[in-house]
Amino acid sequence: MHRNNIARNNIARNYIAGQWVDALSGETFASTNPANGELIGEAPKGGRADVERAVAAAAEAYAKWRKVPAPKRGEVLFRVAALLEQNKERLAQLLTREMGKVLPEARGDVQEAIDMAYYMGGEGRRLFGYTAPVELPNKFGMALRDSIGVVAVVTPWNFPIAIPSWKILPALVAGNTVVFKPASDTPILAIEFVRIFEEAGLPPGVLNIVTGPGGAVGETLMSHPAVKVVTFTGSTEVGKRVAELAAPTLKKVCLELGGKNAIIVMDDANLDLALDGILWSAFGTTGQRCTACSRVIAQKGIRRQLVDRLQARASRLRLGDGLLETTDVGPVISRRALEGIHEYTGIGQAEGAELVTGGKVVTDGDLAKGNFYAPTIFDGVRPGMRLAQEEIFGPVLSVIEANDLDDAIRINNETAYGLSSSIFTSNVNAAFEAIRDLSTGIVYINAGTIGAEIQFPFGGTRGTGNGHREAGQAAFEVFTEWKSVYVDYSGRLQRAQIDTDHLVDLA
Ligand code: NAD
Repeated sequence: MHRNNIARNNIARNYIAGQWVDALSGETFASTNPANGELIGEAPKGGRADVERAVAAAAEAYAKWRKVPAPKRGEVLFRVAALLEQNKERLAQLLTREMGKVLPEARGDVQEAIDMAYYMGGEGRRLFGYTAPVELPNKFGMALRDSIGVVAVVTPWNFPIAIPSWKILPALVAGNTVVFKPASDTPILAIEFVRIFEEAGLPPGVLNIVTGPGGAVGETLMSHPAVKVVTFTGSTEVGKRVAELAAPTLKKVCLELGGKNAIIVMDDANLDLALDGILWSAFGTTGQRCTACSRVIAQKGIRRQLVDRLQARASRLRLGDGLLETTDVGPVISRRALEGIHEYTGIGQAEGAELVTGGKVVTDGDLAKGNFYAPTIFDGVRPGMRLAQEEIFGPVLSVIEANDLDDAIRINNETAYGLSSSIFTSNVNAAFEAIRDLSTGIVYINAGTIGAEIQFPFGGTRGTGNGHREAGQAAFEVFTEWKSVYVDYSGRLQRAQIDTDHLVDLA
């Protein structure tokens, strides 16, 4: 087996136990540019045996890594941050080519990982536990955050650097080791990301990557008895399967799943601002963000005007290769995704919604080589329609009319998902009512539904997840276990809740 090169004959490799290796089967799969079909690279088609090796490597490395002082673990992350900064432009260009988002957004994707690496590097000197008074004399109590073991990281393609960073960086600084399985649409970028950790001096086995199909690689990993934590971002359907696979071995499971996010626009809103927020949230990343706005809930006084202005702006958005400065909206990830999105246009029309703009696959000139969908807006959508309830994950926006604030909030809350929501209003009372009553994990006031920052908890309610949050301090609820420590220095047996006479002793 050839070792120690990230690629051989332009075929990328997995990283297991500190070695760059081919899949044991020798098989590979292609990763292509969704804008034009260009071959980005070949990645190893891992399988069950590759996962076994990676988990064994991570389990072995854990014995040492958990004992490396956390500030020293943090220092590796600071080096990761610096290397990501040095490689930012190269990674961003590759990201646009492999995933499709426009270059400024690709730079943002990498920047998010840089921010996370600095933040989590700093956690090496915090990872706060706490002390509290204890009820018995001459006794001390504290709660510590402890590492857990091997963490399985399974990620989608839409934030190919940022999402893995949300998981891998806090897992590592907390003292765990990782086996990473990225989405099969963006394997080359994932391998490049892992290479940064190798360059930063992460010891062998602490981070391993196995690329390959969700079935063989993902399922083996999710059900492996030596894996103690599963952190998964992807569709709700696969998330449920992950929870089932992890249940028999009682793993800790963090699921970040789909969304059906809405922007509420009240009659008193600054419409120019609302328009900018809606267009950015609905068509940025070609609508392929978990926080993308796919519903606008417009109060009845401004709905007509809002729809007209949205239509005018959306129909002028320029589709194209994300590397070109002239491009506003890049391709969608795959032919299959394109077909799935177009199906919803048919569903919306059959349900009686009014197609205002878009609604078609675009094949003009060079666009025919890629997967392009016209930014699409439906008006006259009713809250119960499939268009308004199901995640489409593409550039499709539904406008729903609401009578007043209560109506708008009710419509927002009545979906199976609960990730992000937003309200545009100039009424401070309405804004605070919305903060209180919108039942999503993220709420924006006078901003779109996208644009989370890494120091705050990220995640959602209902079908968006299982109650966990990523990022910020919340990440450590996933990647650490609490250990409560009692030190009794009284020199005698003291029984909590039973020996209650010590107050008498003091009297
Ligand atoms: P997906 O569920 O198809 O795949 C996600 C990952 O799971 C991939 O790596 C895939 O290979 C793997 N996988 C597939 N089947 C598996 C199985 N049976 N067992 C284990 N792993 C398996 O999702 P996707 O198409 O890559 O991403 C889009 C979805 O991700 C959307 O639903 C979107 O809302 C969601 N998403 C959510 C968030 C969030 O934080 N809530 C963020 C980004 C994306």
